[in-house]
Amino acid sequence: MPNSKAHAIALCEDKCIGCTNCIRVCPTEAIRVKNQKAKIIEKRCINCGQCVSVCPHNALTGVSDPLQAIEKFTHKIALVDPVLYGQFYEDVVNPQEILEKIQQLGFDMVYEVSRSAPIITDFTNEYLKNAKALPVISSSCPAILRTIQIRFPDLIENILPMDSPTEIAAEIAKEELATKKNIPIEEIGAFYISTCPARSFSFKNPVGRDRSNVDGTLSIKDVFLKISGMKQDPRYAQDKNLLSPEFFPHGKAIGWARLGGQSQSLSIKEFLSVDGIDNVISILAEVEDDKLQHLSFLECQACTNGCVGGNFCIENSFVARNRIRILAEKHQDYQVDKFSGDYKKFMIQKEIKPYDVSSLDEDLSEALIKLEKINEVLESLPNIDCGACGSPSCRALAEDIVLGYASLKDCIVLLKEKR
Ligand code: SF4
Ligand code: SF4
Repeated sequence: MPNSKAHAIALCEDKCIGCTNCIRVCPTEAIRVKNQKAKIIEKRCINCGQCVSVCPHNALTGVSDPLQAIEKFTHKIALVDPVLYGQFYEDVVNPQEILEKIQQLGFDMVYEVSRSAPIITDFTNEYLKNAKALPVISSSCPAILRTIQIRFPDLIENILPMDSPTEIAAEIAKEELATKKNIPIEEIGAFYISTCPARSFSFKNPVGRDRSNVDGTLSIKDVFLKISGMKQDPRYAQDKNLLSPEFFPHGKAIGWARLGGQSQSLSIKEFLSVDGIDNVISILAEVEDDKLQHLSFLECQACTNGCVGGNFCIENSFVARNRIRILAEKHQDYQVDKFSGDYKKFMIQKEIKPYDVSSLDEDLSEALIKLEKINEVLESLPNIDCGACGSPSCRALAEDIVLGYASLKDCIVLLKEKR
């Protein structure tokens, strides 16, 4: 059953057969398989969901809240990611109809996350004029923020110092509902209809702020299934393009649901958009080596094709990406009102710090002794990174042995040689 409340990946040991598929794809070497059961080292996990995608036995799942969780609050807001629109066939998707159906699930207000995207775009265009380090890296994908904290701490200063679209949308939506109903903000719960486990985790453990405005997450998959089973309002059967005057989907902002949407909304040409956690890691390594300073902006998404590729989505990410493109083009002419308030309240409030997951010992001299031992053990291992021992690489096994989590007997190659 789920291994932790704070973590966004749950492991069901009963289903795990120890096949080791997951350890091969984990970008942070966060998984070990011992006694034919996987185990996640939580502090190393960036919640990218790669392991969830490859597990052939559904032993790993992303964690989100059940719909009943909204009942903890007197007043409820649903924060809708445009990725949800990409799950529906082109000829049935009408954003307004989808939002109305979500409201019927028990929400007082439905707020599109894309409405906050233009705020970030305006801020980014201003920030780029005097950015302290180039390229500026988008702060939208929480798995990427975690990757930078763990593997590329020198690039923390490149991160755009602005909250994510969801965080901003939650703050604006809560203020609007509180004013409209004349109620305290504390009585309002904001629930994000989430694309992936990384986002679910990010609201419980926010980066750059003490507390998130988002109170829970429902998975896109669960919400899609619920509203797909609802009866269609005859108004939409008659006119599938029906849009009420108060409803203005913002084409450019809807486009953020796919890779490149954020970059393309900026007034610059020198940007790069990268998807897939392995590709992102190699690009960040190039940035660290000062090879990409000609770029102004770098948009990195851990999932293939961007958020449409998140674990909580059901549609093929290429198909969903194309639907989002069509929808964004269709609504290109609509614009949300320009934000007239102060951007500063949406800026990151707390310093983003490196996240050290590799320290071998709190005592530096002890850590150095352990490092020496790891190198000694590594020399005795075959160095073929087969993963048969349950550790992702020979170096990881050497570290596990020195830290007491494994023994040389776990190396099957050595065992065969000794026979
Ligand atoms: S992929 Fe990992 S979690 Fe899934 S069955 Fe194999 S070892 Fe277990
Ligand atoms: S979610 Fe990503 S980082 Fe975490 S254990 Fe799975 S593959 Fe590794």
